[in-house]
Amino acid sequence: MMKPNNVDITATMSLCPHCLARIPAERRTEGDDTFLVKSCPDHGEFRTPVWRGEPRISSWSRPKKPFHSGTHLPLEPRGCPFDCGICPKHRQQSCTVLIEVTGRCNLACQFCFAAAGTGDDPSLETIEKWYLTALEKSGPHNIIQLSGGEATLRDDLPAIITMGRELGFPFIQLNSNGVRLAADPAYARELKKAGLFSVFLQFDGTDDRIYQTIRGRALLAEKLKAIDHCAAAGLGVVLVPTIVAGVNSDNIGAILKLALELSPAVRGVHFQPASYFGRHPGVPKTCERVTLPDLMRAIEGQTGGLMKKEHFCPPGCEHPLCSFHGNFLRLPSGELKSLTTPAAECTIETVGTGRAVSYVAQQWSAPAPVSCCCDTNSLDAFLENHHSNTFAVSAMAFQDVWNLDLERVQECCIHVVAPDNRLIPFCLYNLTSAGGKPLYRRRPC
Ligand code: SF4
Ligand code: SF4
Ligand SMILES: [Zn+2]
Repeated sequence: MMKPNNVDITATMSLCPHCLARIPAERRTEGDDTFLVKSCPDHGEFRTPVWRGEPRISSWSRPKKPFHSGTHLPLEPRGCPFDCGICPKHRQQSCTVLIEVTGRCNLACQFCFAAAGTGDDPSLETIEKWYLTALEKSGPHNIIQLSGGEATLRDDLPAIITMGRELGFPFIQLNSNGVRLAADPAYARELKKAGLFSVFLQFDGTDDRIYQTIRGRALLAEKLKAIDHCAAAGLGVVLVPTIVAGVNSDNIGAILKLALELSPAVRGVHFQPASYFGRHPGVPKTCERVTLPDLMRAIEGQTGGLMKKEHFCPPGCEHPLCSFHGNFLRLPSGELKSLTTPAAECTIETVGTGRAVSYVAQQWSAPAPVSCCCDTNSLDAFLENHHSNTFAVSAMAFQDVWNLDLERVQECCIHVVAPDNRLIPFCLYNLTSAGGKPLYRRRPC
């Protein structure tokens, strides 16, 4: 609906940040900026920026057909977002399924969606049940992310990986802060031998002051060692920076330049603007919220135009406002060639989750070893090594209780297996109220 004063409004639903009641909300575009605006009868009005500037939100869409595969029917339906499992109203199937193998962690980060620290680990029998849930509800061709807490704190992680492979999952990825991977070069080899596919490595910047602030101690040397050890073991690594305004929002270009230097072992960078759920230092001021277009423009500005905002396109799987991605070919000259068509005409084969998964998986897999007799100057040899020369840049803007948009969540393809064997969209599983009350995590079944 277009209002006469050039305000564009799209109706959606959200939750009250204080009482978690479902309330109407609107995406309200005023000039270049879009806010999620909502009002609770008991707790007042809330207004959170969700999109800022170019590329315009009106240009950021992607046609796709809804896919209803959910079968979970709660005994007392309460409507979205209280009926997850996945319920029949959900419009997308899983393409990534998270299994949390521990609640323990060896860091105490300022930002942690899981608010990890201590706790008991689930047994191998329980983890097998969760794998079987993922298999039954969404098939084997998902990316399984082993997460936590810090999954490497479990000495039986190789057995957990092998169990997943034997159950039929080809793409098992590890979410890790890299501390154990750095400490023990044999460990990455052990994980690879167990069947691990790739590592999603927490990597917030190229300066230890950033780690000191976000993670509580200097970590850069350990991150670089972890990458070395993964490369030697033949594991592809994706760097995952949490972007916090004023802490590392000016380090985005440096992260990308270092990642390119470390490629092909580093297959790409997946940015995540900080979200305010789980453990976090407090809700940011309006100007401190990092949105996807802020990131796209920062990438262009801080890489001196090596990557441009036009090189990124909306997703074919999840809701368009959830993410962007771009793919590049590193040319022998050091320049990058965009393999992504312009956002408005984006046609790469990711429509439908089956193809999206294999596409993402291919990009994140380790590079093929280069033959020693290969003439690296020949174009043929270069093209043969095409996969090793590709580099992916993406971002996902997770939703917290302040910017939660139920239309987005209903198209979520990133699901967590809850302890009671339900699949729950990642943002809802981790969502906590302003007072720290969880919507799903650690709630009684
Ligand atoms: S988020 Fe999806 S699965 Fe959960 S209640 Fe809403 S429609 Fe159902
Ligand atoms: S995890 Fe959150 S941000 Fe990502 S696709 Fe799901 S709803 Fe969207
Ligand atoms: Zn309220």
